[in-house]
Amino acid sequence: MWPSGMALRVAVIGSGPAGVYATEALTRQGGVAVDVFDALPCPFGLVRYGVAPDHPKIRSITGSLHAVLDHPDVRFLGNVQAGVDLTLEDLHRHYDAVLVANGAAEDRRLGIPGEDLAGSFSATDLVAWYNGHPDAPIDQFTLRARTVIVVGMGNVAIDVARMLARPAADLRRTDLPAHVLRVFERSEVQDVHVVARRGPAQAKFTTKELRELGDLTDVDVLVDAQDLALDEAAQAMASRHPSVRRNLDVLHDWAQRTPHGRSRRLHLHFWLRPVRALGKDRVSGVEWERMRVDDMADAEPTGNLIRQDAQMLVRAIGYHGKALPGLPFDETTGTIPNAAGRVLRDGIPSHGEYVAGWIKRGPTGVIGTNRRDANETVAALLADAAELPPAPVRDPDAILELLARRGVRAVSWSGWNAIDLAETDLGRTHDRPRARISDRAVMLRASQGTNPDLGEGRSDNPDLLRPQEV
Ligand code: NAP
Repeated sequence: MWPSGMALRVAVIGSGPAGVYATEALTRQGGVAVDVFDALPCPFGLVRYGVAPDHPKIRSITGSLHAVLDHPDVRFLGNVQAGVDLTLEDLHRHYDAVLVANGAAEDRRLGIPGEDLAGSFSATDLVAWYNGHPDAPIDQFTLRARTVIVVGMGNVAIDVARMLARPAADLRRTDLPAHVLRVFERSEVQDVHVVARRGPAQAKFTTKELRELGDLTDVDVLVDAQDLALDEAAQAMASRHPSVRRNLDVLHDWAQRTPHGRSRRLHLHFWLRPVRALGKDRVSGVEWERMRVDDMADAEPTGNLIRQDAQMLVRAIGYHGKALPGLPFDETTGTIPNAAGRVLRDGIPSHGEYVAGWIKRGPTGVIGTNRRDANETVAALLADAAELPPAPVRDPDAILELLARRGVRAVSWSGWNAIDLAETDLGRTHDRPRARISDRAVMLRASQGTNPDLGEGRSDNPDLLRPQEV
């Protein structure tokens, strides 16, 4: 039985929206102490490293996530990788419950010949790079490609296509790391082709994101009206779902427009399945097979092959979760098996182990979806609380001592705030709202507010910042 008067101690793994919303629900009524771990030195997960830099409004959700972590019953412990720096066993020794919300960090693969040629990338890598993710190689992208093909028609594909087509002058207003901004300024991209294997009624993007493509400066959006012809299944979807109708209206509008002869073009194609990436050492194009709708309203191949030249290929076909050593994992869905957030071990709910977010339900939904999802998980956890065996180690400092003994430099909440300040200072010196620090070692140094290098003018200190940062 849970001893009364003792705070429940919960470890939350991951400080993206799911982890933070779970923390908010856990701390709402008091009596729960939460340690939030993140593998990165900074919090907010995909809000920081997934949301496109030219979407400041979505990014501003960081403010409310910050407020949750800035709570007296919450400790942030960044730069700690669960499963590596701390095993599941360690977590169970120090916490009464473990709630995993570490997202879906892996990308899905097309499984076509040529996918691994130079010039072929995952959107996960491209997004990580332009967002200054510390694990992204800084020189991975050069954007020396006139034509880019983006496979997939979800919001990530739209984000990537918009970023590639957007004039660099617009990007100066964002918090892009300086080395990334420089690459965008020298970008040779003229044509971006976004390609779906099914029809416009089945596209996964949301209307707001789609419409935004039409607002880009000096960019023509091109759609072939023939791709928009609706079969019976698509007509039924359009009549059932207003969002599908709205998407079709936007696409029809573009299909009817005469191109303005602008500097860059964004082409949206439907009904094309990638067969293989062309090229010997580097991507030189993609071979597609045209698809059509079968009797079951699924796309079926027609045998009709076409080729498209391109110097860069980006697959934006969804994310996939990663196993956490010690917990069960479903390789097919990329999720941890669970019932309403309770981890299932051999089909039986494991009290004391919970999941929230993409690792619970798969990589779907917008940021707000994670609040409902996390609330469901926390309701299960709190319902179980009375039956949870208390963790044997109850001293909150013990976990910090364990990490220190293992040589892990955990970044505290104040450490993150120091990094945050260093980034805004760095931006100011370059006349921008913020410039991200993308080097983990530099982030760790910036996290130590006592570092004399963090005084005035620190952002120009060559020792503190890589030359590429400025
Ligand atoms: P997604 O919405 O699942 O879209 C994946 C796309 O890839 C679909 O068009 C899918 O086509 C296609 N695809 C999958 N496998 C393929 C294959 N083998 N060959 C060709 N195409 C393939 O995934 P996402 O774009 O990664 O987005 C993940 C989640 O994050 C979504 O819920 C999204 O809304 C959200 N998100 C939101 C925003 C925003 O709100 N601004 C921004 C980014 C992401 P089929 O439909 O035919 O399978």
